[in-house]
Amino acid sequence: MIKNYKSFDLKSLNYFILALKKPAIYQKILCPLFTERQIEVTVKRLDLLHPVVQGNKFYKLHYNLQAAKELGHDKVLTFGGAYSNHIHATAIAAASNGLNSIGMIRGELIAPLNPTLTDAQNQGMALHPMSRSEYREKDSPTLLERLRLRFGNFFLIPEGGTNALAIKGTKEILNDQDLSMDFVTAPIGTGGTFAGLLASALPNQKLIGFSVLKGQFINSEIDDLLQKHKIDPKCTYDIHTAYHFGGYAKHKPELIQFIKELKQNSNLPLDPVYTGKMMFGLFDLIEKDYFPNGSKILAIHTGGLQGIRGFEQRLGIEL
Ligand SMILES: *Cc1c(COP(=O)(O)O)cnc(C)c1O
Repeated sequence: MIKNYKSFDLKSLNYFILALKKPAIYQKILCPLFTERQIEVTVKRLDLLHPVVQGNKFYKLHYNLQAAKELGHDKVLTFGGAYSNHIHATAIAAASNGLNSIGMIRGELIAPLNPTLTDAQNQGMALHPMSRSEYREKDSPTLLERLRLRFGNFFLIPEGGTNALAIKGTKEILNDQDLSMDFVTAPIGTGGTFAGLLASALPNQKLIGFSVLKGQFINSEIDDLLQKHKIDPKCTYDIHTAYHFGGYAKHKPELIQFIKELKQNSNLPLDPVYTGKMMFGLFDLIEKDYFPNGSKILAIHTGGLQGIRGFEQRLGIEL
């Protein structure tokens, strides 16, 4: 699917509109452990939503691109690392919405470009490297002003895509059917997706977030997001910080083994940066009796499968 995306005419067929009208795809995961505990695990496959703009990034970009067009912009600018799902999704989503895109990439642009950046460039994204020290200033008004002098006016999408319009989008991830599940799980990066889920889940539900970054700071980060976007969750929630496997984009052999097993046994493809860590954490919590018997759990597959190619290339591992 990913390798052949160029065969889709992204500009003439508006996949954004088509994707929103598509019924959601669910996959039930069968496992003796779940049967034993009478626990139901269903994966909501957001990775299958759109031919390339996968998962939560689709929801995060949707209203941003709509706003960019309504405000009369002809280009968007955003930031990300060299393997970023957000850069990849923005390049393709902007192109399919008839917008130009500029990607400010942390660090150097190393030739030949990796698969993520090659795709982005093929969709017309102009890639510009930023030194790591400059990158740290990416939210400062002076840097943004310099970028405006250099590139002309643009619609700014922050790193990772989390802003008010992104959360407006991620609020729409859960549909009526999903609101009948006891638990909903998702991986957490910047928290924009989790914030949207928190805004939409019902009082009888509990959201379980799995932070993919090392550290406890994510709790205050989520609190800040809730405050900033005036979200007062009706549901309860828990954020687990023990499944980062060393930190962002870091991995351990047991994570790789787990991802391979789920692909083989359940035909469920997972990425090592986000969804693999969430599913590992979910299995571990079920094993540790975190969930009451009879629980119905919905795991949100947030996509990110494009990143597998770069991961494999970099580490010589096959997933
Ligand atoms: C970006 C991303 C996330 C994290 O989303 P946030 O809104 O930043 O928390 C999770 N999963 C995948 C696959 C992603 O690409």
